[in-house]
Amino acid sequence: MTSMNKIRKVLIANRGEIALRILRACKELGIKTVAVYSTADKDLKHVRLSDEAVCIGPHPSKDSYLNIPALISAAEVTHADAIHPGYGFLSESADFAQRVEESGFIFIGPHADNIRIMGDKVAAIRAMQKSGVPCVPGSDGGLTEDAAQNTKLACDIGFPIIIKASGGGGGRGMRVVEKEADLLDSIELTKTEAFNFFGNGEVYMEKFLTTPRHVEIQILADEHGNAAHLGERDCSMQRRHQKVVEEAPAPGIIPELRQKIGNACTDACKAINYRGAGTFEFLFENDEFYFIEMNTRVQVEHTVTEMITGIDIVCEQICIADGQTLSFTQDDVKIKGHAIECRINAEDPNNFMPSPGKITQYHVAGGLGVRVDSHIYNGYTVPPHYDSMIGKLITFADTRLGAIIKMQNALDEMVIDGIKTNIALQRRIMDDKDFQKGGMNIHYLEKMLGAH
Ligand code: ADP
Repeated sequence: MTSMNKIRKVLIANRGEIALRILRACKELGIKTVAVYSTADKDLKHVRLSDEAVCIGPHPSKDSYLNIPALISAAEVTHADAIHPGYGFLSESADFAQRVEESGFIFIGPHADNIRIMGDKVAAIRAMQKSGVPCVPGSDGGLTEDAAQNTKLACDIGFPIIIKASGGGGGRGMRVVEKEADLLDSIELTKTEAFNFFGNGEVYMEKFLTTPRHVEIQILADEHGNAAHLGERDCSMQRRHQKVVEEAPAPGIIPELRQKIGNACTDACKAINYRGAGTFEFLFENDEFYFIEMNTRVQVEHTVTEMITGIDIVCEQICIADGQTLSFTQDDVKIKGHAIECRINAEDPNNFMPSPGKITQYHVAGGLGVRVDSHIYNGYTVPPHYDSMIGKLITFADTRLGAIIKMQNALDEMVIDGIKTNIALQRRIMDDKDFQKGGMNIHYLEKMLGAH
């Protein structure tokens, strides 16, 4: 077991499956855990398994999981050394990272100023361009008020283009423009929306790629100047910009291309002194990568990368925050086999509406190459207040087809009664001939769903 320098106790500032994932990593590292929970979440599995648990407020997220003073107080009263933010909630809040460190705790994530740069898309793109990471052709930074210049820019890039808010996120603050006549109005509208939603009216322009795949690179970097990439994931199976199925490696990416884009990402990490886990998200079209944004946290789909590299990304995050050097070098990273993740959501298969409630029967899939990351159990009640994802089913095999077959069987084995889930939908995706071919673009799943 790795021995820790500074971190003896971690407060897990999250809920659900990722809180349990972090708890498991802490236990393996011999670190004590503090769970925090809202009044709706006292029965969460990790709350029961943690060394200590603190109720931080009522069910609305703003009063509990987003309540910075409550989280800091919980860390103070329990004498935690470090705080892990998970994903979602405060994980990409530079202000939270800063407050955590100013209060004398270790933030298990990047420095606040790195989070701040990556939260500003124009600043992020600038930083990437400097390090040779390929970006989507577009405006050099934010758009000015100059109508003639903006029109010329759009015509030079070529329609369709997309106007995006520099401070945007969660798929909001974007507008596709098909023709010149709509350009100036669209810029104004997006600016107004951006200002209203994000308090930042800056917008920029990019070429709109019509049939891209979503391919992202996982990196890990320590504070001693070491950075390595763990290859890529394909997350093109999306509905309303929400990822539904993820896999690694991405079909059709040859090792030379992987090394080239991966090295550009690690160079960028070194250039900005990045620390921790991170993901560079790209659109991938005609064998070219185009950077769109960086996520400065662990992602839902980190699991598939763990399966094909054997590297525990959450343990690495904690050890990096402890001041340790990466436990491996780039040459040690060997990609082996193929992994697929199906997100299991508590939702109505017909209209995708959340389906909270009590789980009356739960039989979990298993066997060689089957991994289930989930906080649910028999008798657990899924509360209506949070994200509908209740777990992740991951399969791993030597080949992509082998992983698909294992996933088909694992989905058939899973029984979750009492609530509605998307298990049948995931089964349909696994049976789909085009999915089985691999390399479908980001519009494919919606088309497939519309076709029925
Ligand atoms: P957010 O931070 O809101 O998620 P992103 O920049 O990651 O915003 O973009 C979200 C999604 O919007 C992408 O996954 C892609 O589907 C689409 N998108 C963004 N930029 C482009 C582009 N230049 N061309 C085509 N689609 C795009």
